[in-house]
Amino acid sequence: MPEVASGYVGLLLIADGLGDRPVPELDGQTPLEAANIPTLDRLAREGECGLLDPVAPGVRGGSDTSHLSLLGYDPYQVYPGRGPFEAMGIGLEVQPGDVAFRANFATVDGPMKTILDRRAGRSDLGTRELAAAVDGVQIEDVICRFKESTVHRAALVLHGPGLGDQVTDPDPHENGLPLLEARPRNPQDAASAKTARIVNAFLRLAFERWQHHPVNERRRALGIPVANLPLPRGPGRSPHLEPFQQKWGLSAACIVEVGLVKGLGRYLGMEVIEVPGSTAGLDTDTQAIGGAVIEAAGRHPFVLCNVKGPDVAAHDHNAPGKVAIIEKIDAMAAQIVTALGDRLILAVTGDHTTACTYGDHTGEPCPILFWGPTVRTDSVQRFGERPCAAGAVGRIRGTDVLRIMTSYMNVQEKFGA
Ligand SMILES: [Zn+2]
Repeated sequence: MPEVASGYVGLLLIADGLGDRPVPELDGQTPLEAANIPTLDRLAREGECGLLDPVAPGVRGGSDTSHLSLLGYDPYQVYPGRGPFEAMGIGLEVQPGDVAFRANFATVDGPMKTILDRRAGRSDLGTRELAAAVDGVQIEDVICRFKESTVHRAALVLHGPGLGDQVTDPDPHENGLPLLEARPRNPQDAASAKTARIVNAFLRLAFERWQHHPVNERRRALGIPVANLPLPRGPGRSPHLEPFQQKWGLSAACIVEVGLVKGLGRYLGMEVIEVPGSTAGLDTDTQAIGGAVIEAAGRHPFVLCNVKGPDVAAHDHNAPGKVAIIEKIDAMAAQIVTALGDRLILAVTGDHTTACTYGDHTGEPCPILFWGPTVRTDSVQRFGERPCAAGAVGRIRGTDVLRIMTSYMNVQEKFGA
């Protein structure tokens, strides 16, 4: 689709893991219902509300599959597995034909037989130097790119001809179990057999270079488990996704606190903006994020913003923490609405429900509100799971959101005559 312009700026504001279940500690309210959110309540009153199934009713979406869906890409058609997104999120390029894995720095015993600690003490001490010691090695005709991520995490990208992604994990997924050989799922699959061979050789090479690496001598001296083995898992090929601008006719910026979603934004050709003070935790600087959104809206007609805190709090069973970060997001919404005013077409929702009582993602829908000068109103007076269930938007799916927003922005091509 060619670039379209209407003067409006679409902002899709995702409070990560926004939806929740009633929490006994909050007198049976959800964190969103319990929060003091005067701005989001006003936007709900002035706009149109509903419930959103990020992927489909009852599906416990991940942040990656849900964001794909919310940007209009059906994850059942295009989701490549976590590996490619993880890799792209930390700045490794993933090209068509590459196979990418998530990985851990792990501790294996001397003969490289038994996994002692799959996360190498959850310490990032020296992981950058260790990654640099193996990054770029060539095995057969394949270049192995390896880069550290946060704490004990990393990513591995294999770049070369004739690679398949149907390989089993060398990761036994539990401490004290033997390291496994990567194998093709189907012995006839020569491309995946090649990938398995490269992975196994890469693990041996990394073990040899890391076992007596100065970083690990330092870790031994400090009593930290050595990081002497990369443990890759979750392989996937690079996805074939239509760039966002081509799909929707809108250039876009991406201001998000989830590495996987940064990777997705980069892959879709969005401008990925890093915000100092954005920590992906409850202490994140929402005012700085709001400022970055306002600034990006001067350059792009569409902005995706994700604040991770609500999900982090809910994973920790921390309902008061989730209430507090939702209140910070409310203040950020006020800041953005004040600055952008009548130019703004806003959608506020979550990428999935993360229930404080359960400590993980669950399949209930998230509340959603649309607000802007072209948006109709309904009778909903407050932003929350229960009030939004009565809204005029009804119950929609993630893949509906961009269609609804581009219609409100008057930039959607007509379907038919
Ligand atoms: Zn999420």
